[in-house]
Amino acid sequence: MTDQRSAELADRLEAVRQRIAAACDDLRRPTPTLIVVTKYFGADDVRRLAALQVTDVGENRDQEAREKHRECAGLGLTWHFIGQLQTNKAKLVVSYADLIHTVDRESLVGALQKASAALQKSQDVLLQVNLDPAGATGRGGVDPGGVTFLAEMVAASPNLRLRGVMAVAPLGVDPAGPFERLQGIAEHVRSEHPAADIVSAGMSTDLEVALAHGATHLRIGTAVMGSRPGVR
Ligand SMILES: *Cc1c(COP(=O)(O)O)cnc(C)c1O
Repeated sequence: MTDQRSAELADRLEAVRQRIAAACDDLRRPTPTLIVVTKYFGADDVRRLAALQVTDVGENRDQEAREKHRECAGLGLTWHFIGQLQTNKAKLVVSYADLIHTVDRESLVGALQKASAALQKSQDVLLQVNLDPAGATGRGGVDPGGVTFLAEMVAASPNLRLRGVMAVAPLGVDPAGPFERLQGIAEHVRSEHPAADIVSAGMSTDLEVALAHGATHLRIGTAVMGSRPGVR
């Protein structure tokens, strides 16, 4: 698809790719996986992105994600589920998600194991870590102290594969401290579970900081797509 919107996406994508390349150059580190977060934008935009060599897309709401996934079958994209996940949606999300970034509690591990077994799937998952100051919750995530236990639980689930950790930087503070903390947690998890080598961190405004702290996967929305229609 080539039109005005495609040109706009191409420009912003190029700018983001340049930011990533510059940061990786400075840090002498390998290029991360760029996940373009397409939430609130339609399947046409996903097709435009695929034509611009985007390989990974991220969604945070089940129904929207499921519809887009269906409409975009055959594009060979990797689908990331990055939203808070209710246990009763586990089976639906497992039906299309290649990587689920937001596993943060025992009940969800149980539900995902059951759903994956029912679909005879090996499901890749990340543990979402809550980096907000003590006591603050709301955006999900297991507290750092609970990571080891939850990692064991995932590792003991025959249909789940622990691939690493994910976090969102707390609002209103320098993300360097939280991302450094996440890096330490990621290293600890990887020391016990060698296949858990993914660190999903970094969004439009803080991708350079995340790259400095070992992010392997960036989740970029606004900087590529423009501001989201409606809420948030
Ligand atoms: C929306 C969202 C993003 C993308 O955020 P931008 O600031 O638009 O880049 C990344 N991660 C999660 C979990 C999100 O919900």
